[in-house]
Amino acid sequence: MSDSGARRLEGKPIADEIRTAVAEDVASFLAVNGRPPGLAVVIVGRDAPSTVYLEQILRGCSKVGIHAEFVELEGEATERSVSATLRRLNTDPTVDGVIVQMPLPPTIRLREVIDAIDPAKDIDGIHPLNAGLLRLGYDGFLPATAHAAVEILRRSGIEIAGRDAVVIGRSAVVGMPAAFLLVKEDATVTVCHSRTRDLAEHVRRADIVIVAAGRPGLVTGAMLKPGAVVVDVGINLVDGHIVGDVDFASAVGVASAITPVPGGVGPLTNALLLTHLIRAAERQAAARRTSATRTDPSTVRPEPSTPAEPSAISRGDR
Ligand code: NAP
Repeated sequence: MSDSGARRLEGKPIADEIRTAVAEDVASFLAVNGRPPGLAVVIVGRDAPSTVYLEQILRGCSKVGIHAEFVELEGEATERSVSATLRRLNTDPTVDGVIVQMPLPPTIRLREVIDAIDPAKDIDGIHPLNAGLLRLGYDGFLPATAHAAVEILRRSGIEIAGRDAVVIGRSAVVGMPAAFLLVKEDATVTVCHSRTRDLAEHVRRADIVIVAAGRPGLVTGAMLKPGAVVVDVGINLVDGHIVGDVDFASAVGVASAITPVPGGVGPLTNALLLTHLIRAAERQAAARRTSATRTDPSTVRPEPSTPAEPSAISRGDR
């Protein structure tokens, strides 16, 4: 810890590094496949904050040469129209990754929508197959925010193995996947939520605290163990300003490292999503090449012992 408080774990420099690498991967993909990788963002409602977030993703894609576009449903979105759109995108060979705008309107069941996404194009890891792979410790597509919350620790050289971690929040898209990732990194993990009896008591024991509750000021410096590392995932609009779930002013004097909001987890989330898209594009292109070789009678089939291309979700995600 410096005199001025905890080390700031900034997401932007890491995100810039990732984007530079992604731009190179996009150029290679284009050279080999004759088209850039493609992302489709399915717009389901009129939710303003999430539209702003999705527009940021689109801008991020265009900067590195990825073809990304909104797919807006005509008229009022229904379960049937969203699922039909997803099935069409699943079979479109120029679309490598799909994101669906969240939250969904209350009339649409989440499960019906996520089941309709091809797991090979599910670059934000919401399909049950990808969630199950993570739960079992296998590699699949990770929810980008949870991935970013843990990746910012890894890339900042923070030791995770053997340390006591507390995750506040148990949502399927942030809290739980972050907890599973920490377990995979050999941390000892406690998951807290709104029914946790004494949140401060759990937080006080933690070397690493990941906060994803959507409650501004939920974690204060007084709750932290001196020297703890704090990752603030929260995004809250308070008096016209974006703030996290951690009271930064009090936490910065107690923690050894802390992510700012904005500027911490957020920028990394968007950059990691691009890496997921590249991986999805490369895997699908490789699978198509393998399948074309197998079905073209003019090509000599490889010896039976040649291993087939692994499925799109069976290889490492990091
Ligand atoms: P969510 O689905 O609303 O889940 C919030 C979780 O926090 C729930 O598990 C809830 O417990 C728990 N919680 C709420 N109040 C609590 C309290 N007082 N004490 C302890 N736990 C409490 O939200 P989410 O989608 O996981 O998102 C969490 C935060 O991350 C939000 O601020 C969101 O805006 C932000 N976010 C950031 C990014 C990024 O890129 N940085 C991306 C996505 C989301 P129960 O389960 O008991 O209800």
